[in-house]
Amino acid sequence: MSGRMPALFFGHGSPMNTLELNAFTTAWRTLGQRLPRPEALLVISAHWFFGATAVTAMPRPRTIHDFYGFPPELYAFQYPAPGSPELAQEVVEVVKPHWAGLDYDQWGLDHGTWSVLAHLYPDADVPVVQLSINALQPLEYHLELGARLAPLRDRGVMILGSGNVVHNLRRLTWDRPDFAYDWARRFDDAVVEQLAREPGDVLELTRHPDYRLAAPTPDHFIPLIYIAALAAEEGVPAEALVRGHTMGSASMTCFGVGVQRDILHEAGR
Ligand code: ZN
Repeated sequence: MSGRMPALFFGHGSPMNTLELNAFTTAWRTLGQRLPRPEALLVISAHWFFGATAVTAMPRPRTIHDFYGFPPELYAFQYPAPGSPELAQEVVEVVKPHWAGLDYDQWGLDHGTWSVLAHLYPDADVPVVQLSINALQPLEYHLELGARLAPLRDRGVMILGSGNVVHNLRRLTWDRPDFAYDWARRFDDAVVEQLAREPGDVLELTRHPDYRLAAPTPDHFIPLIYIAALAAEEGVPAEALVRGHTMGSASMTCFGVGVQRDILHEAGR
């Protein structure tokens, strides 16, 4: 058995998933119990989208509540996982010749990260580092950067992308939790098919007729590019682990790279 850690993409959906037990968060809990335990987590979250490539390098990253209009319980939630300055430094090395900055005091863990980790590792006892999404770079840059992270998987690091395959805030139907627009289903299906067949061609999805509606801004789509890049680097598919839609224009589909087959089936049930 190889010591290579799996890599996963999570559709995180509403921040309320942090506090709720539903079909998706139950599957995340199952994954956390069944996946090999990593030394550390490197998370690419849709919510750290700004004008530079940076990694959190503080030993104690703060819990950032980066949303408005949610109940007080959600603002009170803390995810006190330690950071890993050592992993942050390793990221800086493996992405060369690209530059990544070490962030000691600006960011922390945002809800794209902790809404999922609250279920995956509820004890917050695995060190977590976030890698920002450089909003100034083209999508090709993210595909290339994702592949460069691959050696970390052999050093016990589990790489997670957290976004949503379909994420259109303006079209959300908050009162219809189980609804999906036809275009949302079409695009999600196309992504599942593309990542199973040829993950390295993930950027072809940006030419899909439903891409503009599914990803009117690229922030929630880009974390998926990192996971597709890791699958392509390894020469394996990125397989859909959990599928589903919520509120019309958000898909909750989750992908795994290098996840054992019995775990795949258990989580997808
Ligand atoms: Zn989000």
